[in-house]
Amino acid sequence: MIATKGYAAQTKDANLAPWDFDRRDVGPHDVQFDITYCGVCHSDLHQIKDEWGGSIFPMVPGHEIVGRVVAVGSEVTKFKVGDLAGTGCMVDSCRVCPNCQHGLEQYCTNGNSPTYNGLEQDKKTPTYGGYSNTIIVNEDFVLHVSDKLDLAAVAPLLCAGITTYSPLRHWKVGKGNKLAVVGLGGLGHMGIKFGVAFGAEVTVLSTSPKKEADAKKLGAHKFVVTSDPAQLASVNVYFDFILDTVSAEHDYNQYLTLLKTDGIHICVGAPPTPSALLAFSLIPGRKSIAGSSIGGIAETQEMLDFCADNNIVSDIELIDIKDIHQAYDRMLKGDVRYRFVIDMATL
Ligand code: NAP
Ligand code: ZN
Ligand code: ZN
Repeated sequence: MIATKGYAAQTKDANLAPWDFDRRDVGPHDVQFDITYCGVCHSDLHQIKDEWGGSIFPMVPGHEIVGRVVAVGSEVTKFKVGDLAGTGCMVDSCRVCPNCQHGLEQYCTNGNSPTYNGLEQDKKTPTYGGYSNTIIVNEDFVLHVSDKLDLAAVAPLLCAGITTYSPLRHWKVGKGNKLAVVGLGGLGHMGIKFGVAFGAEVTVLSTSPKKEADAKKLGAHKFVVTSDPAQLASVNVYFDFILDTVSAEHDYNQYLTLLKTDGIHICVGAPPTPSALLAFSLIPGRKSIAGSSIGGIAETQEMLDFCADNNIVSDIELIDIKDIHQAYDRMLKGDVRYRFVIDMATL
């Protein structure tokens, strides 16, 4: 066993605190890497608070993980000691179901192994995430990270990046399309960067008037404050796609009026509570509402390579791990500019 230091929540109402635990030894197909940075995703907060149900405690959150390889198993071919490495939201999957066979491990029909708050493929061993000093992952679920980019700012690409990249690629959002990004947080700011990189006209729909200048700096062409009826009316029946990154309950019907005929509202934000959807929000314009979960492993590597080629990283605020609760409080208030990343040297 490998003695590991982490930060964990022991129960759903507990604050995170230092926790020592063991990880498995490095198996023949495993890569061990020491974690230098871990991004802070709103999903960490949803799960610590058990807002989605079924949370497993103790919980070591964190699924935007980057670091440097310190050991590899005897059969490992893709990594060597000293390489940069990353892991996102999954550490394994069944490998044999049709989705796994098609590079869609995130939709593994036998259940993938989430990086934390989940179980390994033996369906017994709990997984512990990146708020820790080291991690052991099967090489097929470890990503190569370019040394051309700022490593701390790469970490959020492993979740916020791939979660916005994948649906924009899937629905071929690009030149000639009008894309709305709803919610300017961790996912939202990456949605802007990819939307712009793919050639779309990008509008941010936000509840925070103060984020307008930042949205423009991130590359957005337009900015609409959703609480202002006149501003909302200016984009009525305007968008081909809406990328909805909102973490709390909101009215989908209001946003659906902004779509053109055949427009698609893509939910990536995962509010814990249900929301009423009126059929008449979809019927008159043959509109769709869809969802999307992170991305497969090959696509995550494609995204990281795209970012290295196009010099795309996250805009981050580096924090000490002891300040994690302040970061959560600010995230809850929508005050995130635009991803907190933990400097794991402070563990
Ligand atoms: P975040 O940084 O907190 O950003 C969420 C943004 O949503 C806020 O900054 C705010 O932006 C907006 N917002 C918050 N409450 C709102 C409300 N009541 N009404 C309207 N807008 C509101 O969170 P994140 O890390 O980007 O994650 C966003 C959501 O995506 C979370 O639910 C997370 O669990 C989920 N997620 C899903 C996947 C997936 O695979 N589908 C992957 C990662 C995360 P403004 O200030 O601009 O309004
Ligand atoms: Zn995440
Ligand atoms: Zn599978």
